[in-house]
Amino acid sequence: MEEFIRASVAHFETLLREQLKRQETMEKGAAKRDYRQAEHITIGIIGGDGIGPIIVSEARRVLERLLKEEIASGRVELRDIEGLTLENRLARGKAVPEEVLAAIKGCDVLLKGPTTTPKGGTLESANVTLRRELDLYANVRPVTVPEEGIDWIFFRENTEGEYALGSRGIELPGKLSMDFKVTTDAGTRRIARAAFEYARQNGKDNVAIVTKANIMKKTDGAFSRIAHEVAADYPEIHCDDWYIDIMTANLVNPAVRSQYQVFLLPNLYGDIITDEAAQIQGGVGTAGSANMGDSYAMFEAIHGSAPRKIEAGEGDYANPASILKASELLLRHIAMADKADRLAEALRICMEEEKRVVVTGHRDGATCREFADYLLEKL
Ligand code: NAD
Repeated sequence: MEEFIRASVAHFETLLREQLKRQETMEKGAAKRDYRQAEHITIGIIGGDGIGPIIVSEARRVLERLLKEEIASGRVELRDIEGLTLENRLARGKAVPEEVLAAIKGCDVLLKGPTTTPKGGTLESANVTLRRELDLYANVRPVTVPEEGIDWIFFRENTEGEYALGSRGIELPGKLSMDFKVTTDAGTRRIARAAFEYARQNGKDNVAIVTKANIMKKTDGAFSRIAHEVAADYPEIHCDDWYIDIMTANLVNPAVRSQYQVFLLPNLYGDIITDEAAQIQGGVGTAGSANMGDSYAMFEAIHGSAPRKIEAGEGDYANPASILKASELLLRHIAMADKADRLAEALRICMEEEKRVVVTGHRDGATCREFADYLLEKL
């Protein structure tokens, strides 16, 4: 027991030093890229596993169409990145093998299919690794239900909280397990800035800061305090504190939910509540997300690799709307708003107006390919 305590204290010291170093790097900040002037943009395409390659290949076809001229002129390159499969990650014992990470870092932006993370063991989630390695601190997830007046956007902190050290907890088998949660001032300040800046630039006048600061007094307490400090620079925007439990209830309360606009949350709460929000929109297969940093950005579906769907032989029936929404966000990020608008409009026609090719995710609906074919006609 004494040996375990000594080893755990030493482990904790290592973690603390690493996190303080990370905080120092963050404090320095980094210059943001401006794609309006970019002469060459490399879009890395990562299939992932499970339904990932199925939906990503359809999104690739759509991007090829939308970016036809830019690809032909050489301004845009779609570059396939291999090796982020579960088989390769397990064989190599690495969440993101070195050569895959190097290939990823050679791109400007990424479109990524979901990747499976085994439960237990020590293999870290590929996403957590990529978010950390590329410093993708803002997970931005829009959700809309036009007929109900719902137009939400979630700013989830993406590199800290329970995720920063999620694979590095301590365990005394049969007795105790302990994980760590980290909130840094600089990490909170930059995600809060991203949320308030978005609100200002998009005419939103309401930001909900969602934590569990009554219980997680240090970490969530700091998150809320710093978010309010940032809010002081945006006096035209109203902001309120909410606890995650009641906000989870509010999202399923039709009497109040449409009043919310921008949500600002620590990592874990943001992860959970955005699946709930996506379900309200029509299912996780309908929602896309952006993982934004100052140097890189990665665009994804919000859902996972759906292994049960593959086992049931229904992989081809997965909804590609999620990754197509992510593609729309990617196009906006690289300053191609006109193309993003075309894709958004085609998605709106297919999913809301005509509803002729409906993907249910099962054999009773259209296949992923049929939906993409139909969408390509509407572009
Ligand atoms: P999941 O999102 O894969 O599946 C949840 C449910 O949603 C399932 O019923 C599934 O069939 C359905 N679904 C998901 N995507 C769909 C689509 N496009 N169309 C229709 N239905 C769809 O969640 P899970 O089962 O909890 O996780 C499976 C694996 O994915 C896990 O290993 C997990 O770690 C991983 N995961 C990866 C990411 C990512 O890479 N960004 C995100 C979440 C989960």
